[in-house]
Amino acid sequence: MADGMRFETAAVHAGQDPEPATGAAIVPIYQTSTFVQPAVGEPRGFEYARTDNPTRRALETCLAALEGSSAAVAFGSGMAAITTLAMAADTRRALIPDDGYGGTYRLFDKVLGRLGIAYDAVDMTDAEAVGKALEQGVDLVLAETPTNPLLKVLDLRALARQAHEGGARLVVDNTFATPYVQRPLEADADAVVYSATKYLGGHSDLVAGAVTTSDEELAERLRFLQNAVGAIPGPFDCWLLLRGLKTLALRMERHCANAAVVAEWLDAHGEVEVVHWPGLPSSAGHELARAQMAAAGRPLFGGMVSFELPSEERALEVCARTRLFFLAESLGGVESLIEHPARMTHASLAGSGIEVAPSLVRLSVGIEHPDDLVADLAAALG
Ligand code: PLP
Repeated sequence: MADGMRFETAAVHAGQDPEPATGAAIVPIYQTSTFVQPAVGEPRGFEYARTDNPTRRALETCLAALEGSSAAVAFGSGMAAITTLAMAADTRRALIPDDGYGGTYRLFDKVLGRLGIAYDAVDMTDAEAVGKALEQGVDLVLAETPTNPLLKVLDLRALARQAHEGGARLVVDNTFATPYVQRPLEADADAVVYSATKYLGGHSDLVAGAVTTSDEELAERLRFLQNAVGAIPGPFDCWLLLRGLKTLALRMERHCANAAVVAEWLDAHGEVEVVHWPGLPSSAGHELARAQMAAAGRPLFGGMVSFELPSEERALEVCARTRLFFLAESLGGVESLIEHPARMTHASLAGSGIEVAPSLVRLSVGIEHPDDLVADLAAALG
């Protein structure tokens, strides 16, 4: 952690010294597109706001401290982060998850494919399938764990070894777990990518993305492309994100505790056929999650839960009936959300051959009182 600061302290202080001119305790929103230079070729540290902006720089410093990485590079969305990363890694062929965010699949299938970047969508819990796919000459393995929407757990250390032996970089989309719960770089991943829209921001009021890495060459290339391509976040979103990060640890503790209550309640419900949450001892990824997902030595299993009902009709009914769980895409905000992956977040998988069960419901468990959340689900399930 930067300057020996622990996670919670870095979240409040890293990159966020009082502003020298006025003593402002909070990093200001530098709402300017350009910076006046005293003389030609002598900028005072900033020139043009696409290239760099003090609010964004504070955010990047804080994110790197939280990840324990030497660099963090901020983007205007998670998708902008993934796109720029694919460019930075000079990707010709990528492996992407077969159980991951639908928009990532769409990006590779409909956008990057047209630019000559090939991909295979594979089950990354299956080492043999990954090995076989790597034989085709892969530069980038983009993994998500826990997976989305089935919350399976990938063994990051094993995956990093396998990717490196196959000549590829491992990049982990750590949006679901956040750096508070899971630290892919410590498992030998080369970079980490975030939709900061989710838990990092934490209040469903911004769209942003980030990549963190300690690979200096990759970081330099990312910074070059951040400026050259320009998929940057604005200063106000950077400021909101800095504010969100200050409470990330507190929020994640509560998201995880509430998810435990909700998952256990669903697991005991007669109509629910299966609950996907790595904290349940019956879940296939439980032991691995205990070792890989933790804060201060205590296992934490994240705030995302999905479950299967007997039919799509029932899944749609339940999605329509909750009141506290808002029916909406996205995740990671303080308010609980419910959604139907097959028709919502993963609709872009239609026609891909990747199946998302129509009877599956996904929850982003918020930080409300857990008894109220359970009562809301109980009323919706009837
Ligand atoms: N990665 C994951 C795991 C996501 O859930 C999402 C969005 O839902 C993204 C990436 C894309 O992020 P954004 O919506 O910020 O572009």
